[in-house]
Amino acid sequence: MHEKNFRRCVACRQSKHQNEMLRLARVGETYMFDYDNRLGGRGAYVCKSEDCIKLTIKKKQFNRAFKSNVPNEIYERLQEYAQNNKLSGVCEEIK
Ligand SMILES: [Zn+2]
Repeated sequence: MHEKNFRRCVACRQSKHQNEMLRLARVGETYMFDYDNRLGGRGAYVCKSEDCIKLTIKKKQFNRAFKSNVPNEIYERLQEYAQNNKLSGVCEEIK
């Protein structure tokens, strides 16, 4: 899959359209969620699904994606995001 705007999830490794994913950006030494895909810098993506977010938190997949220590606060915020948005548990295959 080489289409523009498709990104690979750090948890399930599927490629999906970036609208279905949440981006974590690193700008300088700061990590922040890029809810509107507006920030530059390096980015890593996770599906907006409870499964993928749980796995990302459990295995600290963002640390691997960025090859550095992502602050725990980021993982806490990710958990809040999943709760606040009442995401479904299923990570759906793309059609
Ligand atoms: Zn995923």
